[in-house]
Amino acid sequence: MSLTTEIAKRRTFAIISHPDAGKTTLTEKLLLYSGLLRTAGIVKNRKAGGKNATSDWMGMEQERGISITSSAMQFRYGEAVINVLDTPGHQDFSEDTYRTLTAADCAIMVIDAAKGVETQTRKLFEVCRLRGIPVLTFINKCDLPGRDPVELMAEVEDVLGIQASALNYPSEIGRGFDSLVDRRTNELLHFVRTATGGAKPADMTRHPIASDAAKAILGERLDSVTDALELLREAGNPFDVDTFRRGKVTPVFFGSAFTNFGVQPFFDGFVELAPPPGPRLADIPGGEIFIDPIETPFSAYVFKIQANMNPKHRDSLAFIRVVSGRFERDLVVKHHRLGKDIRLSRPNTMIANSRETVDEAYPGDIVGLLNPGSFAIGDTISLKGGFEHKPLPQFQPELFARIQPKDLTKRKAFDKGLAQLTAEGAVQQLRPWDNPQGDPFIAAVGRLQFEVMQYRLNDEYGVDTHLTPLPYE
Ligand code: GDP
Repeated sequence: MSLTTEIAKRRTFAIISHPDAGKTTLTEKLLLYSGLLRTAGIVKNRKAGGKNATSDWMGMEQERGISITSSAMQFRYGEAVINVLDTPGHQDFSEDTYRTLTAADCAIMVIDAAKGVETQTRKLFEVCRLRGIPVLTFINKCDLPGRDPVELMAEVEDVLGIQASALNYPSEIGRGFDSLVDRRTNELLHFVRTATGGAKPADMTRHPIASDAAKAILGERLDSVTDALELLREAGNPFDVDTFRRGKVTPVFFGSAFTNFGVQPFFDGFVELAPPPGPRLADIPGGEIFIDPIETPFSAYVFKIQANMNPKHRDSLAFIRVVSGRFERDLVVKHHRLGKDIRLSRPNTMIANSRETVDEAYPGDIVGLLNPGSFAIGDTISLKGGFEHKPLPQFQPELFARIQPKDLTKRKAFDKGLAQLTAEGAVQQLRPWDNPQGDPFIAAVGRLQFEVMQYRLNDEYGVDTHLTPLPYE
């Protein structure tokens, strides 16, 4: 298959949402509606006590029921190859999230129909706007009592400052939600549940909106739906793909990830509208160039480092996003920062706790490389060399603390753990300038990152630590 064809098939995205809006459920439905190809990293596990933990490698995630780390999964959906990057929803993880979003070509914003635009959604959307990433909107939980659809779209516009254009419209938001009007084809899409909890895809039938069948399905909801459609026609925003890809308008889809109603029209719309990997700006001495995914031989950058992905391996993986060219196993590439050649001999993706070796990958794909210490966040690797992908943002840390092992005989394990975990970038390590051998300081954007650090030093390196917060914030 040619490089051009492979690139055209790819859609690489991240889901942005407030916790509980339905990100995990929607991701699971991608699994249901497509074929999982492979995962790079870890899949967010279910809330404590929940079902369906695809991977459970990090105890703290399970205990806290939060998603701490990002992962990437690859699906085939029809002809498309979809890479989904999981963005941690917790506010303390904004830096990691930000870096993850640099690896995405577009974002899906999931909004709870009862809650509207929530704080975390707003923050994440802002990142997308800064990076010019196009955003599709999925208004979820339409099967539960919620707010008026037009009002929800108005909130998206007011709060986020982007035009919203409904590509479909729900029969209602509430327990009776069973159909959507496809505004582009003027059909009523009617859904029937095939299994409780949406364990199977929902059956979907199409009826012209003016047909008797459509009228019968809508019943007494016909008038309100007709009025809303009229309103959208007259006062709503037009939609076109170019404006969307420039980040100026977000297409809005309604549905219920839980019952699967509206999931398929949304995925279809996503594949149709979301951009394939395109050219990216890179730095060269004294200027910038565009790196074309087809013309430029293999290049990629490291957007994430993760230590101890798998307790069986106890090592560190560097996740790269392929930007151009074909990636092949055993490729010898130039490592820009180190100024030397390295062989990419054991590229990995992970499925739950087992690793798979990747033989080839294309622009938009995410590959995990074993990292014996040669990779740092933001590193560029490329076949030809001579340029560097744009540096990833470093956030100013806001909290500082001194950290020490409780048991001084564990100093070696402590040093190793600290070095590996700070390489991931969520916490920075600082040494006192007047005593570089003294106890290190650590600095982070949020408090939770310290807790995660201590937990992991204990869980993964067997070192109990004392943490003394320092007063300057
Ligand atoms: P996340 O925190 O955004 O990943 O949210 P989850 O996908 O874990 O969903 C949070 C809760 O909402 C879970 O209990 C889901 O079962 C539930 N949920 C998600 N989507 C829907 C939906 O469309 N309808 C209903 N009724 N519940 C949903």
